[in-house]
Amino acid sequence: MDAAVTLLDQLIAEGLLVPTGVDGLYGRSGVFEDVIARFEALVTRTGGGDGAEVLRFPPAMTRTQLETSGYMKSFPQLAGTVHSFCGGDHEHFDLLAKLDEGESWTEHQAPTDIALTPAACYPLYPMVASQGPVSADGRLFDVQSYCFRHEPSADPARMQLFRMREYVRCGTAEQVQAFRQGWIERAEAMIASLELPFEVVPANDPFFGRAGKMMKVSQREQGLKLEMVIPVANAQPTACLSFNYHQDHFAHTWGLRLAEGGPAHTGCVGFGLERIALALFRHHGLAPAQWPETVRRVLWG
Ligand code: ATP
Ligand code: ZN
Repeated sequence: MDAAVTLLDQLIAEGLLVPTGVDGLYGRSGVFEDVIARFEALVTRTGGGDGAEVLRFPPAMTRTQLETSGYMKSFPQLAGTVHSFCGGDHEHFDLLAKLDEGESWTEHQAPTDIALTPAACYPLYPMVASQGPVSADGRLFDVQSYCFRHEPSADPARMQLFRMREYVRCGTAEQVQAFRQGWIERAEAMIASLELPFEVVPANDPFFGRAGKMMKVSQREQGLKLEMVIPVANAQPTACLSFNYHQDHFAHTWGLRLAEGGPAHTGCVGFGLERIALALFRHHGLAPAQWPETVRRVLWG
């Protein structure tokens, strides 16, 4: 049995994750949630003094926003859209008959105006753009959301619904690069204080298809995405944090402008909350009460 499946089995046996029968869709226990809450508090202690605007969106964005974001061009394989029954009595009768017969019943489901959020920062950019040009100090946001990615897997670190906490910077190229560098150093100190082994490495997003191959290479070569990897459930370490510099990509997508003129640059640091919790369970054991005192002090004070 491979290591990922073994860790998943242990997490389920311990009641930390509750299986649903669908890979990547789990319930979480109180102990699991407490670890996430304590880690988020550590993130807030680290970044909370920077004056970020705190925003929480539900785990959805408008379908129009998803369309405009270009997500369907780059990651069609991961996107999730919400469909609902939109028929009348006749279609309802047909639907129930098909359900009874165990046949496919979804033909009467039609797309709603809602899509699932693929990354916590996605609903932010259209909002910022709608609020007008970004002043000389730039803007800084603190967001957190459940995110959906259609990538079913038996690896507990690859979920279909998981949370991402992010700080997002919007401003000049220099402001965004300084933000990203600062967060790499902070994240290294944070993860070291949790006594987890890590490495920061160049990375790329899973751009789709043949055209996507070029985009992966170019993103890597330009150093636009770095990840902090930590051994979790596989032989290969898993990306638990990412440090992204989007250049002026979202300016072109959404019309983000600087008050002084020109496109605004953006970047984000993303904490994969479930992956970090899983890394803690993997390295320190399934019972947080028995974690090293030094680690407990960082998280529980
Ligand atoms: P961008 O803004 O460029 O899309 P991002 O930071 O918002 O990037 P990712 O880098 O794709 O988004 O993901 C951020 C973090 O979310 C990852 O480093 C990882 O920890 C976590 N993550 C991604 N996919 C999954 C998944 N399937 N299951 C659990 N955690 C995940
Ligand atoms: Zn982001």
